[in-house]
Amino acid sequence: MTDLKKDAKDSVIVYSGGLDSTTLLYEERERIALALTFNYGSNHAARETACARLHCERLGIEHIVVDLGFMKKYMRSSLLAGGESIPEGDYADENMRSTVVPFRNGIMLAVACGMAEDRGLSRVLIANHGGDHAIYPDCRPEFVNAMDAAMRAGTYVNVKVEAPYTFLSKQDIVKKGAKMGLDYSETYSCYKGGEKHCGKCGTCRERMEAFKLAGIEDPTEYQTENGSHTSSILQGVSPNLGEERLKVNEIFYSLQGEGYNTGRAAVFVRLSGCNLSCPFCDTEHEQGKDMGLDEIADAIECFPAKFVVITGGEPSLQLTEHFIDVLHGRGLFVAVETNGTRPLPGNVDWITLSPKDLFVGNAGKVALRKVNELKVVFDGIHEPEEYDNIDVSHGRFLQPCDMGDAQRNAAIVERTIDYIKMHPQWQLSLQTHKMVNIP
Ligand code: SF4
Repeated sequence: MTDLKKDAKDSVIVYSGGLDSTTLLYEERERIALALTFNYGSNHAARETACARLHCERLGIEHIVVDLGFMKKYMRSSLLAGGESIPEGDYADENMRSTVVPFRNGIMLAVACGMAEDRGLSRVLIANHGGDHAIYPDCRPEFVNAMDAAMRAGTYVNVKVEAPYTFLSKQDIVKKGAKMGLDYSETYSCYKGGEKHCGKCGTCRERMEAFKLAGIEDPTEYQTENGSHTSSILQGVSPNLGEERLKVNEIFYSLQGEGYNTGRAAVFVRLSGCNLSCPFCDTEHEQGKDMGLDEIADAIECFPAKFVVITGGEPSLQLTEHFIDVLHGRGLFVAVETNGTRPLPGNVDWITLSPKDLFVGNAGKVALRKVNELKVVFDGIHEPEEYDNIDVSHGRFLQPCDMGDAQRNAAIVERTIDYIKMHPQWQLSLQTHKMVNIP
């Protein structure tokens, strides 16, 4: 008998990173070849996209963020006009009509259909549900049927639309996800786009009600709760992809001092903010200046090197695919140094993973599974065996920890050398910039 699951990657999914489409992503994971997240400049785009990236990376599904910036530029909707424009109330309320983005699903399905046809994929999935019908015409069954007919007629591979939740309520979707063991704190819905769900807009109220009616505990962190904290995946994500600005600690020109690219001239962009507190950290990572993307790219281009190293703090807190695209547009090669606790944009050219969980425990648990180089600070005590199953393409580097004490440092260097001799998959990395005073 043919292994249907193995041979059946025939689908593209329109995937926001919200509750409904994440449920569909997991439900159809065996058949999904490509997930498309559309950035049309909505208030909640960055937070949704961060969730979408996380799940696609976890499932090993290719993920593309498609820029639909023209929609924010030319169309009117409170969903495109900043969090404060979003009305509060239920979806049935007339004022929620202001959140309609004209023909949004039609536009996204058309793009997804073209991408499917291009790759010979015959199915486009979308997660509109029964509760969307009241306000959004392009979520109703008659629209889905008409779009399905148009796409089949307009393609050689007869691309069809499947919208399996069209007649389901949101609580039915929550129940489905609960059965699959989904952690819905790793999804985002709030139309205001704040760090926590506001708990007052139509999407938040619908989300709360769905969990209540499903009889399932709601893991979402709402603004209205006191003393709660945001799901770690959403911490530090800048609120709006459309007007992206990053907090930059410093931009400087030097030579890469450590690891695979040692000695190479590079422009270093140090982004502010970190989600960890390592005991030996000497970076002032809270300071910084808000800069626009082109402003940052202009500053980088003041230097002759085309090699950019984005570091921190923890750069994944702020990095977006859009920013990397801007740098690529300037002909730059983009390397990122990360503690690996959070997903990175899929278009980064080089990933240096420098895990810190040996020093900060669970808070530093590594989420990335595939990187270019692995650089572990070794204190002579915590052996780095736990990283053996990370897929590393260009080298595992062990770097003796600088304890600020010559005698202790000498002992750690000796222990590092012994360890590498016993575990030759590792190689020594020294902080050459400190040794020879590279400015
Ligand atoms: S991950 Fe890096 S920047 Fe963050 S606290 Fe640790 S050493 Fe400092």
